[in-house]
Amino acid sequence: MEHLSQAELALYQSRLEDELTSCKQSLIKILKHAPVTPHWLAQIATMSSSALVDALEPIALNEIGQPLQHLKQIDAALCQMDMGLFGICSDCEEMIEADILAAQVTAQRCQKCQQNNDNKHGFIRL
Ligand SMILES: [Zn+2]
Repeated sequence: MEHLSQAELALYQSRLEDELTSCKQSLIKILKHAPVTPHWLAQIATMSSSALVDALEPIALNEIGQPLQHLKQIDAALCQMDMGLFGICSDCEEMIEADILAAQVTAQRCQKCQQNNDNKHGFIRL
């Protein structure tokens, strides 16, 4: 399969940045009720995804589990973008299908590997 064009990469990059912004907003909403300083909370908006993952990891708060997981996925995808590896399946290193990336811009596996992975973990993807 062809590698992604510059235009496609730019599109995915901006989708990742949008997801990062909305993920940060949900984290800020949750952390407003946590014992953190307003000063620290204000910094979240300008933090890079990796710095934010590092900052949030030690906060043991059930509520941030899900958005933190999402943040990690966004961070991983942005990191791959930097390295020129965005859109490449982490298992077989083939290109991830465009419709999968369109549905989930943080996808890490092609359809075949995702199915193998789901089967391995015993759940069925509907
Ligand atoms: Zn694959």
